[in-house]
Amino acid sequence: MANVRLENITRRYHTTIAIEEINFEVPDGEFWVLVGPSGCGKSTVLRTIAGLETATSGNVYIDNTLVNEIPARKRDVAMVFQNYALYPHLSVAENLAFGLKMRGVDSKKTQEIIQKVAQSLSIEHLLNRKPKQLSGGQQQRVALGRAIAREPKVFLLDEPLSNLDAQLRDDTRAELKQLHQRLGITTIYVTHDQVEAMTLADKIVILHQGKIQQIGDPQSVYSRP
Ligand code: ADP
Ligand code: ADP
Repeated sequence: MANVRLENITRRYHTTIAIEEINFEVPDGEFWVLVGPSGCGKSTVLRTIAGLETATSGNVYIDNTLVNEIPARKRDVAMVFQNYALYPHLSVAENLAFGLKMRGVDSKKTQEIIQKVAQSLSIEHLLNRKPKQLSGGQQQRVALGRAIAREPKVFLLDEPLSNLDAQLRDDTRAELKQLHQRLGITTIYVTHDQVEAMTLADKIVILHQGKIQQIGDPQSVYSRP
């Protein structure tokens, strides 16, 4: 586990300011949700923490270490996207094992982790299938499983439920919450769904045109005066 701190992060694309002077700190183990309309900068914030974008100015700290110069693969951060991004030619088990192999985990330990992760996401019966033989909800569970198998310090989720139908979205949201309660991984989650934000968040960050408009707990952010 680790805290995540953004200090005066600004990202410009030519003349577009995607995010401007973003400051916040997510304490160890908390679940924070970034909300706001399309184009307000949510993905840019996540991608900057992951190391998939470089800030124009400002600092990113993970576990109190400045990571500006540290490449994505060395940041101990796992990111899950809306479109799953599983490896289509690999089985579910191989997808789950992928990040472990890259890190040199031996095959016995890898098998143990795969079993544990598959069990916690109820996908044990799918281990030999290929992604195209899975439903959207099953694919997203595998994507979540692949991310947590690496035991990252930080978990970043970019609208992970938005491709699922309503029932599956509710179920997966509940599972995600349980998973977080069990593992306690520091999590930053992007959505434009108020129900997701309300039910998952310890704190909500509202972005508007690249700036932070408000940070607060769900009750204070969504209560009406
Ligand atoms: P979202 O569904 O999060 O709103 P977008 O459609 O805004 O996603 O962006 C999808 C991808 O396209 C992201 O990787 C983003 O960085 C990139 N992108 C967004 N806007 C532009 C742009 N104006 N020019 C180039 N790439 C962009
Ligand atoms: P959100 O995730 O909230 O939809 P993004 O972070 O994707 O917002 O985008 C924030 C702003 O930055 C938007 O105006 C978008 O068009 C712009 N943007 C994002 N990525 C790029 C890019 N690669 N090139 C140019 N503009 C981009």
